[in-house]
Amino acid sequence: MMTRRKLLQTSAAPIAGAMALPALSAAIQASSTVYRRPKLKITDVRTAMVLVHGPQAHIRIYTDQGLIGQGESTDAAIGTPALIQSFKRFLMGADPLNVEAIWEQLRRNVFSGAQGGQYITALSGLEIALWDLAGKALGLPVYQLLGGKFRDKVRIYLDTDMKDNLGPEADRKLAFAKEKGFSVAKIDIDEAADPHRFDRFNRTANNAEMDRMLKEVQHIREKLDPSIELAVDMHAFYDAPTAKRVAKELEPFRLLWLEEPVPAENIDAMAEVKRSTNTPIACGENLYLRWGYRELMEKRAVDIIQPDFQKAGGLAEGKKIANLADAYYIPVAPHCVVSPVGLMASVHACAAFPNFLVLEWHWVNHQDLWKNWIKEGEIIERGFVTVPDRPGLGVEMNEEVAKKAQMQGTSWFGPNGAGSDRD
Ligand code: MG
Repeated sequence: MMTRRKLLQTSAAPIAGAMALPALSAAIQASSTVYRRPKLKITDVRTAMVLVHGPQAHIRIYTDQGLIGQGESTDAAIGTPALIQSFKRFLMGADPLNVEAIWEQLRRNVFSGAQGGQYITALSGLEIALWDLAGKALGLPVYQLLGGKFRDKVRIYLDTDMKDNLGPEADRKLAFAKEKGFSVAKIDIDEAADPHRFDRFNRTANNAEMDRMLKEVQHIREKLDPSIELAVDMHAFYDAPTAKRVAKELEPFRLLWLEEPVPAENIDAMAEVKRSTNTPIACGENLYLRWGYRELMEKRAVDIIQPDFQKAGGLAEGKKIANLADAYYIPVAPHCVVSPVGLMASVHACAAFPNFLVLEWHWVNHQDLWKNWIKEGEIIERGFVTVPDRPGLGVEMNEEVAKKAQMQGTSWFGPNGAGSDRD
């Protein structure tokens, strides 16, 4: 490795007399950094797709000094390998320590739909890999690069991911929540297959559906340990009249939040629901970038926001969204459905802003994969993840285990990018 001192010894000494000091200084500036090593250059970017909570993408950035950064993107991540291939022309030879400038250059690629959707999902995973790389290059944990930590441990909530809120699965999952020390659990009450539905596309819940929802929440609240807070998700499935009725009827249960009672695409409708009830309203997993949250904040349309850092723009963008929310005294409970690599990335970001509430864990139905996905093993202890002090994200993928979830027909960090390893 070329250090500043070595450079001086090898290049400056023989020509000390011939080379003027300003020229020597310029030579050093061009080939090294203040971190006393030669400038890093990106040499390759590769992807691997897995199928766990839908298609999820793992992204690796390679450098000329052997350092590798890894990130993850999720939800509609199916296009990530192709998009990462298309980013390559901007990335090859770039200094990966300029994380935000690289991110901004790619975001301003306005002809690629750069304000949301799959483009920002891919960019999020890439940005996380850049932070991992920067941390490893500088010998610092990512939270430190994001401005330092407000907390040593990040609170995690259990998404129960249940098919049936009333049967033995509920008994099992609620006992698990208590046994593992979680302080918050979440259930879903939207049901596309409810036999009472008016029709397939209508968003209005009739009384029979409303009774089912109330019965489920009541049952769970009675069975769940009183020390554990309950959140309820409606998955953007219903209309405003239904959302207002449900939120009102659920008031006695003192939910931590009611999530996406209406779709987040109409901010005024969300605000109408929020103003109608004392039940705290949350949304955000389907919004992108700080601009996607601006109107939500300005109109005070929700009580809690839920950005997904593997989807909404990455860790620095997540922090900016959280800082914006803090100006409105809105807490942040990030959506998170990824592997331990992605969750640990979110942990670093959640440590680095004050108004953090709780972070989601969604792999309760994939626990064998979860526990073995990284070499560090289980990272959730008594409902918290300790913010690691190792350089970068501080976790390393256990490839033999992760590869079990590889998506058919996709490349496993192969050189061919978007295709399979055989093409
Ligand atoms: Mg949700």
